[in-house]
Amino acid sequence: MSKRRLMMLGPPGAGKGTQAKRVAADLGIPHISTGDMLREARRKGTTMGLEAARFMDAGQLVPDEVVIGIVRDRLDEEDARAGFILDGFPRTRAQAEALQEMGVTLDAVLNIVVSDEAVIGRLGGRISCPACGAVYHEAFTPPDADDVCNACGHQGLVKRDDDQPEAIKKRLEGYHAQTAPLIAFYDEVGILESIDGEQAPDAVNESICKVIG
Ligand SMILES: [Zn+2]
Repeated sequence: MSKRRLMMLGPPGAGKGTQAKRVAADLGIPHISTGDMLREARRKGTTMGLEAARFMDAGQLVPDEVVIGIVRDRLDEEDARAGFILDGFPRTRAQAEALQEMGVTLDAVLNIVVSDEAVIGRLGGRISCPACGAVYHEAFTPPDADDVCNACGHQGLVKRDDDQPEAIKKRLEGYHAQTAPLIAFYDEVGILESIDGEQAPDAVNESICKVIG
C-alpha cells in the first residue's frame, strides 16, 4: 500500500507546486494548497473565507486558527478520505501540532531540499513583463527576442523587487527560521523524507515515487 497522506515541504523556487500536482494526478488524490484554498474559501464567502480575506486584504499573514479551520474542513471532504497531498501547510511547528491534534496523521513529509545558492540562481534569474505580468528566466526560459515579451510584445522586461538577490536571501532566512523546527518535528515523528530537489524535475518525481512506494 503506497503512502497517500502526504505533505510537501520546500523553499520558494523548489518546484513544490509542480511536483505536488504531479503526485496528486498520479495517485488520484487531491492537491491541497492552502493558498488556493484561502482564495476558494473567500470566493465561496464561507465564514472562514471572509475571516481570512480580512487579513489578506490588510497584507497580513492569516492566523493559525483560521488556516487550520479551513484545512480541517477541506480534509473532511469526501475526496480527501483516501489520501491527499498538502502544499503550504503546516507552515509552522504550532500548525503541525494542531494538525496532529485534529487526528490527522501523515504517512510521509516530502522535504524538497534545494541549497540557498540554487534557489538564488533560480529565482534571481526571473524577469517579468511590466505590461502583462508574464514571467521568464534569463537562463532557463528566456523570451524569444531579447528583452521583448512573447505574450504581449512589450519591450523592456524587468526584475521585480522580490526577485532581487537581497530580497530572495531575506525570504530564505524567513523560510529556514520557520521551517527548521517543523523539519525537526517530523524527523522526531519519523516520517521525514528528504528529496534532492536539485535534480531535473523528472528525477525529482522519481525520487518521490520511490519514497511513496
Ligand atoms: Zn507582456
